[in-house]
Amino acid sequence: MALIIQKFGGTSLRTKENRKAVLDHILKAKTKGDDVVVVVSAIGRKGDPYATDTFIDLLKAQGDNVSSKKQDLIMSCGEIISASIMAAYIEAQGVKAEAMTGFQAGIVTTEDFGNAHIIKVVPTAIEKEIKQGKIVVVAGFQGRTEKDEITTLGRGGSDTTAVVLGGYLKADLVEIYTDVPGIAVTDPRIIPEAPFIPEISFDEVIAMAENGAKVIHPRAVKAAKKFNIPLKIKSTFDQSEGTLIGPNESDFPISGITLQEDLVTALFTNVKTFGGDEINTLHKLSCNNIVFSNDKEDKIIVINEDQKDAVVDLAKKCKMGLKFHGNMSKITVIYKGTIGSSEMDNKIDKLLFEANIPIEARESSGNCSAFIVKGEYSKESIRAIFNGYFS
Ligand code: ADP
Ligand code: MG
Repeated sequence: MALIIQKFGGTSLRTKENRKAVLDHILKAKTKGDDVVVVVSAIGRKGDPYATDTFIDLLKAQGDNVSSKKQDLIMSCGEIISASIMAAYIEAQGVKAEAMTGFQAGIVTTEDFGNAHIIKVVPTAIEKEIKQGKIVVVAGFQGRTEKDEITTLGRGGSDTTAVVLGGYLKADLVEIYTDVPGIAVTDPRIIPEAPFIPEISFDEVIAMAENGAKVIHPRAVKAAKKFNIPLKIKSTFDQSEGTLIGPNESDFPISGITLQEDLVTALFTNVKTFGGDEINTLHKLSCNNIVFSNDKEDKIIVINEDQKDAVVDLAKKCKMGLKFHGNMSKITVIYKGTIGSSEMDNKIDKLLFEANIPIEARESSGNCSAFIVKGEYSKESIRAIFNGYFS
């Protein structure tokens, strides 16, 4: 008998039919004889009545100066509603179930409200219910501090809840159910025919997630790697096998292509005198720790708006030219350890050149080649690179 964690995202819980599909996956595992711990996100997306964003809007309507502690308290409600509903739904089928908040589930976090990290899990309460044969439904995305304040875990937090619970409960498998049948080479919303990857390594998915593939949160994959627990991404809406994330690399020519949009870049010209110190500063000011270059050997970084003043100061101090550009996109191609980066860079350069897409800047590091293009070329760039490797 195995212990399985199953996590269901917001779209999977949105309608009654969707919740029926969720229920089928849970009961299928239970009927097979496995113990099941379910982790749920809040129902739906922005605008839906019980979605996290809806609660925040409700709170903000009371005034602008809401403390982050109160914001976390209200933000934790969506998942609690989902957990109660799913547990009741399971019980209605004659199967025993218990719903728990993150607090009750023993998830202890740092005090970084809105973006707390899990320090540890004290899983005794969950284990007690499992021993009694119950399915435990845990509210994702939340925990408590050592001082018993409610915290939330930031974007993709329920993915992390599922994996870390799996680690502490010594689960055999963590399944992340979503609205697509696994991890595809690139976002299927951009390339509908992008193939889904049967098996892929932790490191490849960490690189994809850190560079914008929204299908799973990087923190969750890092936790899975640390606990060495297999992680599956599957569709709620079909019975396909999905993508297994584990120690083995993917069989595809490249691991993935990711897109980050609506970026602001800072371009420094006349940088010949930039020394190590200035480059270090650039790394610190960049929001992804990458310093890009273009054909004129200018230095380019992607910045958060709140870094603008610091960037202007640096340019003044070093007597450099400086230009900001909005609506930029970053395309990252992630590949396996066995492929050389110059071979990749040359091929991608050629593919974008042939598609008449101007490259604003580029940089490769580790097993990733990243390119900055103007926003209007985002989807075309992904298409050109995809076709170059997969058609
Ligand atoms: P959930 O609510 O279940 O957590 P998310 O919206 O967080 O769902 O993640 C699923 C979405 O991730 C998909 O609908 C898909 O558009 C997007 N996505 C981005 N990149 C990829 C990729 N490489 N493979 C699969 N899905 C991807
Ligand atoms: Mg998600």
